[in-house]
Amino acid sequence: MPDPQTLLLVGAGHTHLHLLRHADRLRAAGWRVELLAPRWFDYSGVGSAVATGALPLEAGRLDVAGLAARGGVRHHVDTLAGLDPRGRVATTATGQRLGYDVVSIGIGSVTSDLGVPVGAGVVGVKPLAGLQTLAGRLPDEGAAVVTVVGAGPSGLELAAQLSTRAGVRGVRLVDGGDVVGPSLPTGARRHVERVLARRGVEVLLAARVERLDPTSVTLADGRVLEHDLAVLAGGLAAPPLVADLGLGDERGVPVRATLQHVEHDDVYAVGDCARFTPRPLPRIGVHGVRQAPVLLAALEARGRGEDAGQHVYRPREHFLSVLDLGAGHALAARGRWWWGGRGALMLKRRIDRRWIESYRAAGG
Ligand SMILES: Cc1cc2nc3c(=O)[nH]c(=O)nc-3n(C[C@H](O)[C@H](O)[C@H](O)COP(=O)(O)OP(=O)(O)OC[C@H]3O[C@@H](n4cnc5c(N)ncnc54)[C@H](O)[C@@H]3O)c2cc1C
Repeated sequence: MPDPQTLLLVGAGHTHLHLLRHADRLRAAGWRVELLAPRWFDYSGVGSAVATGALPLEAGRLDVAGLAARGGVRHHVDTLAGLDPRGRVATTATGQRLGYDVVSIGIGSVTSDLGVPVGAGVVGVKPLAGLQTLAGRLPDEGAAVVTVVGAGPSGLELAAQLSTRAGVRGVRLVDGGDVVGPSLPTGARRHVERVLARRGVEVLLAARVERLDPTSVTLADGRVLEHDLAVLAGGLAAPPLVADLGLGDERGVPVRATLQHVEHDDVYAVGDCARFTPRPLPRIGVHGVRQAPVLLAALEARGRGEDAGQHVYRPREHFLSVLDLGAGHALAARGRWWWGGRGALMLKRRIDRRWIESYRAAGG
């Protein structure tokens, strides 16, 4: 038997969690699997509910160390800080040097700053560790006014949920576009608009933000609107580390359909930090989940010395997405189909719980 080659997984997000669960298959194909990632993974499907205090932190938290240990994977509890793709060495934030034969990068995304000044103290939707501080910043009682910037899925979830929370007197949702939820079908958009109106959320559209501070937002028309807390939900971008490593830019690590870097066959990238060059993909967890079996099969083939080129990611056109709008209400949409109500939230909770529990059963 030849010596095993080292596969280094960086980040324990949606794709790599699946590889950790199937580490035995990777080992059987000839890999020694190592993981470089923080101890915990927080699941964004319940991210807004945890942030607003509707669900406890544990509802979406997985023990990455437990999962790695169960899979016999050596876990470096640290983060990636440098990479030399030619020398095949990764450097961690604490200065460890980790050699590898193949590396897969899945380090997620950060909140896009919209290209405007954003003051310290504004809560961004990513990383989730920052968003999770939201509930703690709201008074238990009292009358906080919150501005949410960005009327995409996470901004809509947060504005709707915050409007039902004790301690919040008013919610303002600000977006530079003409509609809320531009990715939603028209009927679903109207449904969300009605929910927001019923709950007294002030929606400001075609309102370009020039500056966002913890106590005020400055709009391009000169208005300065005051608040007690600001949430930035203006979209997701690849972490600045991607550009710092020389592997890509704010759009992500450019990968082929095989999920390999366009220039480095030994570097794979998955999920939000990747830029899928065959066609642009939205930054949603579903892609990371669906890339997982493709990456696993490709690495198994590669480990066995077979042709891995047939294992390509073919994204589907439409996915089910369910927005948790708070107070027991959700909106489910897929393509042009949509459905709003209590049943939609029960469906979302069931899907999320099943996903989390499948990893808990594997040691996570
Ligand atoms: C509020 C909110 C709600 C959302 N709801 C949904 C939803 O319901 N459905 C959906 O499909 N999408 C949803 N999304 C989008 C979803 O969060 C992302 O698309 C998804 O998390 C991307 O998965 P990932 O595996 O690429 O990254 P992540 O899930 O972010 O995982 C990346 C991991 O890498 C780790 N990491 C980061 N930097 C480093 C480093 N330097 N070294 C090592 N490890 C590192 C992180 O700790 C993290 O655990 C939501 C987003 C937000 C903000």
